[in-house]
Amino acid sequence: MSKLKTIIQIISKKAYFYAFLFFDMAEPYNGVKFNYKNIGKTISEHPLLYELKYWCAVFNHKNLAPPYPGGSSGNLSFRLNSKENNFIITASRTALNDSMVNTDFSEVINYYKNQNLITGKGEKEPSSESIMHFLIYKNRNDINAIFHGHSPEILKHAEQLNIPTTEKELPYGTVEFAKNALNLLHNSDFIILKNHGFVSLGNTMQDAGEQTYFFLNKCKSFK
Ligand SMILES: [Zn+2]
Repeated sequence: MSKLKTIIQIISKKAYFYAFLFFDMAEPYNGVKFNYKNIGKTISEHPLLYELKYWCAVFNHKNLAPPYPGGSSGNLSFRLNSKENNFIITASRTALNDSMVNTDFSEVINYYKNQNLITGKGEKEPSSESIMHFLIYKNRNDINAIFHGHSPEILKHAEQLNIPTTEKELPYGTVEFAKNALNLLHNSDFIILKNHGFVSLGNTMQDAGEQTYFFLNKCKSFK
């Protein structure tokens, strides 16, 4: 009986630790902060969509995008066509899991800075961080995949891992937040957004995913 009690204590301590880290580091999720115009109900069928679903499941299993009621704190995307900036991304308020369907994703077509407007397709609004994804694709022609998560382990060990970190903590989902990230992402493919999360860029989804694994695995050596 006392053994069981100890196990329960350990589990609840761990859950408290993650909950504390998550709620302490980021403002609560209140939806997207851009204007959105839906121009089609279905996203493009693309052979790489299955791979995006695979990495969403991995992010969930590895606690790289911890869940909150009604969603997961992370967003993953891939570029649809080279030389263009449109992409498929996880939709807003969507839980990452093993059985994601096409309607859990949105297609971002364009972002109009003056109106702070995103145009897109799909049944749901695209992820709140779509402006950041758009600006990265626009400025980094070599990048075709962007994975953003809130791993408590990577955040905790960012300094020991020598990962470039943004100087200012900014409200999620804004142009300022996106530009702040982009400043570091001109010269780096893996960064920390201060008190928020990480961004992993890759030429392919496999690159972005394995790079995340690399840092997550390194965290184990600090325990
Ligand atoms: Zn985030």
